[in-house]
Amino acid sequence: MQLDVKTIFFITGLLVSTTGMVLWGLAATGRFDRWLKYWGISNLFAGSGVLLLTFRDQIPDIFSIVVANMLTISGYFLLMVTVHRLYHRKVAWQPHLLLLAVTTAFFLVMQDSSQFYSERAAISAAICGFYCALVAHTTRTIAREEDISSAYLVTGIFIFTALVFGLRMLAALTDHMGGESVFSPGGVNMWMILLAAIVTPLWNMSMLLMIMERINRNWIGRALRDPLTSALNRAGLSAAMENAIQGQSDKSSTALLLVDIDHFKQVNDKLGHAHGDELLRMFSDMVRSHLRGSDLFARQGGDEFVILLPGSGEKEGREVAERLQKAFTQPTWKIKTADIAPTLSIGLAVTKTDQLPQSLHSLLQQADAALYQSKQGGRNRITSVQIA
Ligand code: GH3
Ligand code: MG
Repeated sequence: MQLDVKTIFFITGLLVSTTGMVLWGLAATGRFDRWLKYWGISNLFAGSGVLLLTFRDQIPDIFSIVVANMLTISGYFLLMVTVHRLYHRKVAWQPHLLLLAVTTAFFLVMQDSSQFYSERAAISAAICGFYCALVAHTTRTIAREEDISSAYLVTGIFIFTALVFGLRMLAALTDHMGGESVFSPGGVNMWMILLAAIVTPLWNMSMLLMIMERINRNWIGRALRDPLTSALNRAGLSAAMENAIQGQSDKSSTALLLVDIDHFKQVNDKLGHAHGDELLRMFSDMVRSHLRGSDLFARQGGDEFVILLPGSGEKEGREVAERLQKAFTQPTWKIKTADIAPTLSIGLAVTKTDQLPQSLHSLLQQADAALYQSKQGGRNRITSVQIA
């Protein structure tokens, strides 16, 4: 089959630059984070670079070769910037700008359209492939660290594209491009261009899926967590419970600690609400550092927190409670002043794991009664109650 390479280029360039303009226009509304702007410009650059290429021999080589290639390569670079920004990673601009400057110099020297075709194709494929590999590397990290499955799709597509660019570079270096110019019909070059035309819209679509999945996950996470301490809220505790007790043996027990900071109001009154907030955050970080992955930590409200320890009985529950009390009185607490030394009162209740999640409500009530006794008994103590 013979396909007109110029037409494929033209349609791909038009498609990508139009997508870029739409994304950029959306970014200009100011309703999105900065990455959308980079994404838009990246498409606009890559697309207009490809479009300019199709005017070879009709416009000066400096535009159809130097500017066209540099726009396309910059588009790939900005795509890498986009995924870095998405992942909240800083981009070291200097080495990349240096690379782009050196590449521009190379194209300026080799801009004669009647020669250097292989050299130009090899260099441009190497750099575009390099940026595709960097994109794939970052999206794979997003997929793994944030458990975003569509990020694996983006990774796969960009690994594939990087490989195709690698092959293109090899074909150019070994004189296997199948023609004297990028527009020569047939041969390896034509099939690669066709492949690029198919894959390009897939990048944007898969990236969109990844972004949507991430935003969705973010909102679900926020709906189930307390924004100040990042502890689960009540809905989050209920939602996470089933997972937490899964895999526990039927005979095992689960301990619940209800923890309340003693005289917390004094911190607010004497040091201010901001210090009170800081204490709540530090307390939460401290608790998390003492828990296992299967334990749950939730904020009941105010300065009262729930800790659920699946697979733990009264003895283990009490050990954890004592450890928390001890850690809370460590002198590392910046917030402490000479006359405020907040302590913890804890109520501990235990249930058979197989009675959860139904028994959560009564377990909380039991722990609440035990906590009340700790407060009544003079605070800074642990009271436990066993449910039959
Ligand atoms: P007790 O020893 O009996 O526990 O008394 P307490 O001073 O700790 O006060 P209590 O537990 O009865 O009340 C908690 C206080 O925590 C009441 C409220 O002003 C304050 N509080 C609740 N939520 C927040 C918050 O998000 N930030 C800050 N800084 N304070 C809060
Ligand atoms: Mg309190």
